[in-house]
Amino acid sequence: MSAPVSLPRSGKLAVYAAPNQPFELQTFPLREPRAGEVLVRIRMSTICRSDIHSYLGHRPNPCPGVLGHEIIGDIVALGAGVKSDMRGAPLAAGDRITWSEYFIPGPNYYTEVLDLPQKSHGVDKYGHMAVSTEPHHHGGFGEYCYVLPQSWILKLPAELTDEEATPINCGVATMICVTERAEIGMGDAVVIQGLGLLGLYGAAIAKARGARLVIGLDTVAARRDLSARFGVDHAFDPAATSEKDLIKAVQKLCAPEGADVVIEVCGYPQVIPSGIEYLRTGGRYVMGGVVNPDANVTIDVNRILRKLLTLRGVHNYHPRNLIEALDFVHANRKRFPFHELVDGKYRLDQVGKAMQDAAERRVLRAAIVP
Ligand SMILES: [Zn+2]
Repeated sequence: MSAPVSLPRSGKLAVYAAPNQPFELQTFPLREPRAGEVLVRIRMSTICRSDIHSYLGHRPNPCPGVLGHEIIGDIVALGAGVKSDMRGAPLAAGDRITWSEYFIPGPNYYTEVLDLPQKSHGVDKYGHMAVSTEPHHHGGFGEYCYVLPQSWILKLPAELTDEEATPINCGVATMICVTERAEIGMGDAVVIQGLGLLGLYGAAIAKARGARLVIGLDTVAARRDLSARFGVDHAFDPAATSEKDLIKAVQKLCAPEGADVVIEVCGYPQVIPSGIEYLRTGGRYVMGGVVNPDANVTIDVNRILRKLLTLRGVHNYHPRNLIEALDFVHANRKRFPFHELVDGKYRLDQVGKAMQDAAERRVLRAAIVP
């Protein structure tokens, strides 16, 4: 165990008692990290759409709780047995790190047999536990966080800014996984339903994977305007065009028959039927945004059968996608303006305001800087 000069005795967390209740700063004790843990001083935490869903009560999250899972921080102290990151780089106090948004209880059928560690039974996420659950500091909206055993840690290169680095462990890694599952290849035409943070990263990653054309759909004009800088060639407002005309326009751009890939990252299940129509025969449709239960929609499944379509869902990501996400942002930070995506900064006592601005889409990614 590394010996910190002085381990802080306590740290503040922004706690909410129940959905839609105000955030309150509360102090909880800190202890030495146990075996396999790392105590981190949080540098930045960004608000993900799923934090908003939890806070608004759209999906169950234990309360009183602490939210936030897109986090980076500096190592304060390492627990026994933690010596290096997932690439083998040695870890020491002071190192700036990112880590997987989830941790697993240990090797199990999903890790050992199915290669789906992200769906292990008992998997839990940062910012998804009751604040009473020891060691209390396990969410992003606070001063400290314990990285718990069976998480995947990566040291951050010095060149990356905090703004570039913070969304890597959820937004970017998720889109690495979505585009991998979509099997985007050289020359593909890709349609992205939703140009929020996920859609913009998705467009950039699709281009980096070799897509010849990326079409983006979003009702927010500012997002359509910004999307050109992230690799979107044509952006449409689906509310301004009839469904029939939009299908025709997409098919015309994706000659001869339609898109190779359509990606849903807007969170609205009602867009899926038209998404299926954008595809060519043999195309792939991947859902990454419909994270809430009861996302019901009616689909003419005969269209899926006749067009030989593949439909896939993505939830969480494989740990290898975290490495790929970091490398993608690092290698492409001059090609795409990732640093501009974090466009609002708030103190720890302003989490409520940040949450409101993010929920009402006044900012793309709100950052809490404790
Ligand atoms: Zn997230």
